[in-house]
Amino acid sequence: MTTARKDYDTVFDLFKQHHAWFRDALPLIASENIPSPAVREALATDFGNRYAEGWPEERVYAGCTYIDQMELLCIRLMKKLFKAEFVDVRPISGVVSNLVLYTAFTDPGDVMMALPIPCGGHISMGKKRLGGTAGAVHDLIVEYLALDHNELNLDVDKTKDRVEKLVQKGKPPKLVLFGGSVFPFPHPIRELAETFREVGATIAYDAAHVAGLIAGGCFQDPLREGVDVVTLSTHKTLFGPQHGGVLSWDRYADKIKRATFPGLVSNHHLHAVAGVAIACAEMIEFGKAYVTQTVRNAKAFGQALYERGFDVLAQHKGFTESHVFLIDITKYGDGGTIEEELERANVILNRNLLPWDIKAGRHFMHPGGIRLGTSEVTRLGMCESDMIEVAEFMKRVVIDKEDPNSVKKDVTEFRREFQKVHFCFENTTEAYKYVRIR
Ligand SMILES: *Cc1c(COP(=O)(O)O)cnc(C)c1O
Repeated sequence: MTTARKDYDTVFDLFKQHHAWFRDALPLIASENIPSPAVREALATDFGNRYAEGWPEERVYAGCTYIDQMELLCIRLMKKLFKAEFVDVRPISGVVSNLVLYTAFTDPGDVMMALPIPCGGHISMGKKRLGGTAGAVHDLIVEYLALDHNELNLDVDKTKDRVEKLVQKGKPPKLVLFGGSVFPFPHPIRELAETFREVGATIAYDAAHVAGLIAGGCFQDPLREGVDVVTLSTHKTLFGPQHGGVLSWDRYADKIKRATFPGLVSNHHLHAVAGVAIACAEMIEFGKAYVTQTVRNAKAFGQALYERGFDVLAQHKGFTESHVFLIDITKYGDGGTIEEELERANVILNRNLLPWDIKAGRHFMHPGGIRLGTSEVTRLGMCESDMIEVAEFMKRVVIDKEDPNSVKKDVTEFRREFQKVHFCFENTTEAYKYVRIR
């Protein structure tokens, strides 16, 4: 056999091993989900090999007859799902959606306010010094919204003070970006909208994590609470393929369209747009039930871990109102080491900075926290009683220091009955089944 053929075969071996691992594991990464077999089918179509620059029916390329119909359908479904006047489904990821926002509404050198990364902000909102997209790519000056560490939510009064200080310095924010990657409680948009409106800032909301919860009517409704622009990832609590999107009002449509194309995309992953259309239809049909169970699972999971000795944050407010919560793991080790131990037991989650970690001298490789999300396990059909079992597996590894290999056997056994994707129209193919089309 030639080495090229061997390398070629190796790629397929890796696919198979990965699929087999996820079939047996507990996927608890808050930013991930499992799409339906229907969405996976969309990703394998010829749509993914085509170009369609521009807006549907005003394309720069031929061959777009069916692609245009699909994209217009996707726009219609997304408008309905989010009650949005204007939707652009072309940004190819959450980061690109944020870049569309920055390009459309700010100039390099402008001030943007957002959460710092240890407080739940995302690297795409980060300062230049940290290599963040906002600073390093669009040259925004990033100033921080204030977080109340105990409440794990924005501190309204302190944030207002910071805005006032920026105004006094002659550097008022041009843009505020609410939302983040650790987003357990709805942000107080109504309480802060007026403050930002008065200084002339565009009000935006990064719904990468919570888009599905918003669509299912289970979190907050930013467009009704005073937000001008919402940016999305379509694959976190919204269970589509990896892609992005921007929601807004008709009065901002031209600015956003121009920033997306010719600004930020040429091809825009048409197979993924088709997958988003499918996921939106699934959300319209099953979204309410799915997000209700996702939030219930997160609360029950937080409670079960708390009762077993884990320092789950925000216990006094029921741990979370979303799919995600945080644990201060410093009693048992550091986030990096615990993440690895759990991975060896097939429990897949990620380490996370806590708001006070940087001051305590901890950094991203070995932070004080771990982050857990319940969207994917909910999609697999788990409910509150199952979360108690998952909490018990975690306790055996982290607190009892049992050999991860022995826990792994029980995790694999437990996972056997959760092999189908729920909250979708058709699920004859198992969630992580490797599908061969060669
Ligand atoms: C995940 C995330 C993003 C980036 O999304 P991608 O689709 O991975 O580019 C942006 N903002 C927030 C708050 C996120 O959590």
